[in-house]
Amino acid sequence: MSQSILLLDYTREQLQELMTSWGQPAYRGKQIYEWLHKFLVTDPQQMTNLPKTLRERLASETYINPLELILQVDDARGETRKALFRLPDGATIEVVLMLYNKRRTVCISTQVGCGIGCPFCATGQGGLTRNLSPGEIIAQVHWFERWLREANSDSEGLVVERPTRVTNIVVMGMGEPLANYEATMQALRAIADPKTFALSARNITLSTVGLIPKIEQLAEEDLPVRLAVSLHAPTDRLRNKLVPINKRYHLPKLIHALVRYQEKTNRRVTFEYAMMRGINDSVEQAELLADLLAPIRKAHVNLIPLNPTPGSPYQPSSEEAVRRFQAILERAGITTTVRLRRGVEISAGCGQLRQAVQQPEVLKFIRE
Ligand code: SAH
Ligand code: SF4
Repeated sequence: MSQSILLLDYTREQLQELMTSWGQPAYRGKQIYEWLHKFLVTDPQQMTNLPKTLRERLASETYINPLELILQVDDARGETRKALFRLPDGATIEVVLMLYNKRRTVCISTQVGCGIGCPFCATGQGGLTRNLSPGEIIAQVHWFERWLREANSDSEGLVVERPTRVTNIVVMGMGEPLANYEATMQALRAIADPKTFALSARNITLSTVGLIPKIEQLAEEDLPVRLAVSLHAPTDRLRNKLVPINKRYHLPKLIHALVRYQEKTNRRVTFEYAMMRGINDSVEQAELLADLLAPIRKAHVNLIPLNPTPGSPYQPSSEEAVRRFQAILERAGITTTVRLRRGVEISAGCGQLRQAVQQPEVLKFIRE
């Protein structure tokens, strides 16, 4: 039989059921879960407390790592590593490790491509191919965690002392996480499981364009991840163009949903605003944005000069325009962060490496 079962797709309970269906005691499922999610083994032969016959069956019918590394690019400062992986069906996804502010952050993808189609985003250009499964999302974190855990003084050019661990996750890679809600939540629960991987949910940030029904659902979950909303425009007219889903979930409704989210969860909401020269960076737009966010308690805005994608007409705002915009928000009592180092914190280049495989000239562009 071929290896058709991705073990990382199974919750602890589902692994127990799988073991029962194989005629094994249910607790074998718990043991396997621990090998997978705590010790991050990639080969059932390493699961030394399992009987040999079970290890052999696992080896012949299941697999653990769905990722095959195709290409890896480090930035010149040794702070970012972008990796392109192939999945068993040939689909490719991007994952990024960022070493920044003493953190080791992994930026993960939740879909192959994206159906939202924001015109400034590399991922948005090709449309949606498919959702990732929970295990395909978890494996992205495990990949970099394994590398960080290695006791190896050679960090291969990245500025990091090993062994260490992943400290933060940002769900800001390819895809719209709330459009693949169940798989994303299952993956984040596994990452935040205090018995195994144990990364605090507070160190996980999920970025969304604002799918209102899913924001409402998220408010009901007992998983306190941080929410980031990609705004990019202070008016419906402009946002309809930049974030096309805005036509369905327009700004007044979105802000209202976020106010309710805050009432329910008491959590802070961050807004992402990719600054595009002459498009969304005027003084008037800063004032409109401050007004729009007035109902949000402790709103925080990340201002990110656009990371231009090849072939797109959108260009980054000047540093001066960003500072001017920032000052207006700050004066209105809205805290801000400016990311002048392109794409580092939010890995805005996500999706670009994938383009590069089809178009080698883009690779030169990414290497800067
Ligand atoms: N689909 C989700 C999460 C993935 S994108 C979302 O859109 O929120 C993560 C962030 O990168 C979003 O804020 C997105 O708008 C931003 N982004 C995409 N392309 C970018 C680019 N070329 N430059 C700057 N930010 C970009
Ligand atoms: Fe999709 Fe986010 Fe890119 Fe928009 S910015 S196309 S929602 S990945």
